[in-house]
Parts: sequence; C-alpha cells; structure tokens
Amino acid sequence: MRVRGLKQVVSDVFLTSANAITLAGEIVNVDGSGNRVAASISGPKIIIMIVGLNKITDNLSAALERSQRVAAETNAQRLNTATPCNSMGECSDCASPDRICNITVIQHRRPAGKNLQGITM
Ligand code: SF4
Repeated sequence: MRVRGLKQVVSDVFLTSANAITLAGEIVNVDGSGNRVAASISGPKIIIMIVGLNKITDNLSAALERSQRVAAETNAQRLNTATPCNSMGECSDCASPDRICNITVIQHRRPAGKNLQGITM
C-alpha cells in the first residue's frame, strides 16, 4: 500500500501555503487526505509557508469560511474533482469520494520545536 504524502513528512524542508491566515496569526488549512496538513505540523524541521495577502482574514470564522468556500472550491476546479463545487460551482457539503475538504486544521501558534517561517506577498 502506498502511503500518500510520506515524502513531505520525512523531508528536511517543507514548502507550502495556507488556505487562510487571520489577523491574529491563526493558520487555517483544509485538506482531503491530510498529507499536506500533516507535513505542516509534524515532520520537517523547517516549514516555509508562502501566503498571498488575499488569504488574510479578519477572524477565525472568516478564515474557515474562506478555506471551505474559496480555497477548497478553487482546488476542486483545479483538480477537476467529481464534486458539486466543481460541477455546479457551489459547495453542498458533499459526501463524494472525491471530497477534498475532509480535514480542517487550525494552527494557533508555531508547532513546538518547529522553525516556521512566514512570508506574506
Ligand atoms: S464539501 Fe464537497 S462540494 Fe463542498 S467544497 Fe468540499 S468537496 Fe466541494
């Protein structure tokens, strides 16, 4: 059995982004299988997040909303998933096998022992 995303977890450096970041610094990510969020929490000693200014939200509620309604839907369209957000352009909180938003992670602070570098653009 192939373990998806193992390379990210055992790498020295992990380059990633975030679905949303609040003004208070909370980082929100929604993931389908969890490989991306797992590597952003545990594994690589150095985690670099490159995040556009468009992903900054006023609060956690807006960050969760952006992650589900903007980021997940955009990713579904990019990956051409068999999900309502791709085929109909709107989330219906589906139960599709292709669902890409199964796991939501909120990072309140830097994970202990991690060197998380943030760059906003
Ligand atoms: S729950 Fe389903 S429809 Fe909604 S964003 Fe996720 S994959 Fe798309």
